[in-house]
Amino acid sequence: MIDSHAHVTRCREDADELLAAAGEAGLTRILTVGLDEASNREQIALAEAHDQVFAAVGRHPNDADGFDRAAADDIESLAAHEKVVAIGETGLDFYRDTATPDSQRAAFEAQVAIAGRLGLPVVIHMRDAEGEERAVAESFETLDRAGPGLEVVLHCFSAPEWVERAGERGWYCSFAGNVTYPASEALREAAVKVPDDRILVETDAPYLTPQSKRRDRNQPAFVVETAGLVADLRGVGYDELEATVAANAARLFGW
Ligand SMILES: [Zn+2]
Repeated sequence: MIDSHAHVTRCREDADELLAAAGEAGLTRILTVGLDEASNREQIALAEAHDQVFAAVGRHPNDADGFDRAAADDIESLAAHEKVVAIGETGLDFYRDTATPDSQRAAFEAQVAIAGRLGLPVVIHMRDAEGEERAVAESFETLDRAGPGLEVVLHCFSAPEWVERAGERGWYCSFAGNVTYPASEALREAAVKVPDDRILVETDAPYLTPQSKRRDRNQPAFVVETAGLVADLRGVGYDELEATVAANAARLFGW
């Protein structure tokens, strides 16, 4: 199994412990995702120390204030590292207001441009205020402007009404622990609609712990529960889903 999106260094547990638990749970690859300059370097260091760990480097939309040319250049230079396989996470978050929409837009557009120049996939975070879909709609517009060559992962996919539009664009949809929550019926229906060659699973650890362990902090090993549910929904066995998502991640991230 793979975890297409975790923040391993944000977990409070020791990274060696988490990676050992992940190995025991059958995980063979983990993408650990940077959020800012310091965090990007932590993810690369972790990836250097562990064969099964790869890194994404970027600036999270919630931290986008102050993003400037130097910040973009820093991401682009870190992305040359052999274990960096994606740019992000980036995107738009109109649920939280820790960064202005204009800062988020500037950081997002810069990171999409970097991903395009380097031929790396871009990992997208989209979150709207309750009942709205402005962040999703605008994220789609921004990515559409980048053109068809860009590989896109909609991380923690939570926009069920947009699943067909993502599919038409050939974008990857990565399902996290929230697909296991009782209220996520529409999201479970969306998980069935993603094409076989575009589905991924993730933890977003330490956030979004799957339902049966919801009192605990999340960790990469727990992707097994999310993957098991997604396999059931799609009417395939766990092993078949595992082969599918492993092949998708290998193609996308080149690992
Ligand atoms: Zn994340």
